[in-house]
Amino acid sequence: MAMQAGYVERALETVRKRNPGEAEFHQAVLEVLESLKPVFKKHPEFEEAGILERIVEPERQIIFRVPWQDDKGGVRVNRGFRVQFNSALGPYKGGLRFHPSVYLGIIKFLGFEQIFKNSLTGLMMGGGKGGSDFDPKGKSDSEVMRFCQSFMTELQRHIGADTDVPAGDIGVGGREVGYMFGQWKKLTGLFNGILTGKGLDFGGSLVRTEATGYGCVYFCEEMLKDRKTSFAGKSVVISGSGNVAIYAHQKATQLGAKVVAMSDSGGFVHDVHGINLDTIKQIKEVERKRIKEYVKAHKSAQYTEGCAGIWNVECDVALPSATQNELDEDAAKTLVKNGCIAVAEGANMPCTPEAVKVFLENNVSFGPGKAANAGGVATSGLEMAQNSQRLAWSFEEVDEKLHRIMVDIHHSAKAASEEYGTPGNLVNGANIAGFMKVARAMMAQGIV
Ligand code: NDP
Repeated sequence: MAMQAGYVERALETVRKRNPGEAEFHQAVLEVLESLKPVFKKHPEFEEAGILERIVEPERQIIFRVPWQDDKGGVRVNRGFRVQFNSALGPYKGGLRFHPSVYLGIIKFLGFEQIFKNSLTGLMMGGGKGGSDFDPKGKSDSEVMRFCQSFMTELQRHIGADTDVPAGDIGVGGREVGYMFGQWKKLTGLFNGILTGKGLDFGGSLVRTEATGYGCVYFCEEMLKDRKTSFAGKSVVISGSGNVAIYAHQKATQLGAKVVAMSDSGGFVHDVHGINLDTIKQIKEVERKRIKEYVKAHKSAQYTEGCAGIWNVECDVALPSATQNELDEDAAKTLVKNGCIAVAEGANMPCTPEAVKVFLENNVSFGPGKAANAGGVATSGLEMAQNSQRLAWSFEEVDEKLHRIMVDIHHSAKAASEEYGTPGNLVNGANIAGFMKVARAMMAQGIV
């Protein structure tokens, strides 16, 4: 055992030395590698083939200048990124994030997670991620368009429908994907499945918009089934009010739950009678305003400044769906004290490692992001399949496939958690199940 543990420790040490200052990337790698220790014990051939050393090093990292002009004619410069992490299972696949906090360490943490998440979907997709430190907040539509065009002017030389297919993430929704697709077509002359999350009129897939939120709830439903219960009658807290949070609300409500709190980066709204989704959609999707506007339309709701306080709201189920490290140890303890029985991560790495430990130690069913939020990329994979076929499937057909995939992911994670000696620990299970497929493919493809 000591030798196997040594292998993981050595790989972690190399990651820390080679990627200084990239705290989120270190955190993501540590979490996965810790889970994999029993795998290396059982499969010494992975160590001999240097699988760990190779899997933590991106195949390619591209950093570029994105110059654009604001509405006053001023020149602005942002930084663009695309990290092509691992192509063992298929073309690189993963979203683009536009947020001022973006730097290489964030893109690498997301790209690394994406490898295992994409593997879990069972579809042919490698792992990648990209984005920019551009802040879409407060920018006009024309400014966003000029930025997206400049971003794609460089990105287009690195991507392709059979090599690397980006999608949306924080700050990148249908509007941004549309502008980037237009620029791709203009520059290359190709009308193909180069981006997913496209508009329905030009190659997008039904259910892609809803997929991550729906998928997270489908996954959580499986966790609840294991506890012999369901969403019916449960009170749910969902952080964020973006793409993931909105559709998690919709599906949880359809299944009979009541969503009692939602947030944005400014604060959260709480209403014991339930949060009205139409109002949230109007404020966040149409008007692009702050969630505090909500209380103007709903007098029974209260707004509290500061988004972290949302975890003090009593609930049966929590779906953190905003951003990384938004739910810490204290918040986890409060949720446990208040009787929360299940947490599924709609966002990527929203719970700190200390918070995850609290959940696992207190018999809270916990669905890690790379499993629970894989429905978004899974449906992106289905969009790619439709684009290749030049066909569009119905809402019901895509939703049914998504549902099936989420049930299968839960099953694989649960089975791996049992096989490797930590039954019910879906963090270990998801990491191991995702890793095994990638590792086997890397072994089969030789040292490349
Ligand atoms: P959106 O941009 O649509 O929404 C993000 C939401 O999170 C907004 O409500 C935003 O508030 C809030 N938020 C963002 N940054 C912070 C922060 N630093 N502190 C507090 N709140 C914050 O993004 P998505 O819904 O697409 O993504 C949410 C999460 O889900 C991310 O972790 C993403 O990586 C993950 N994810 C998304 C997928 C997808 O298909 N979209 C797929 C899989 C994972 P505000 O409006 O104030 O900025």
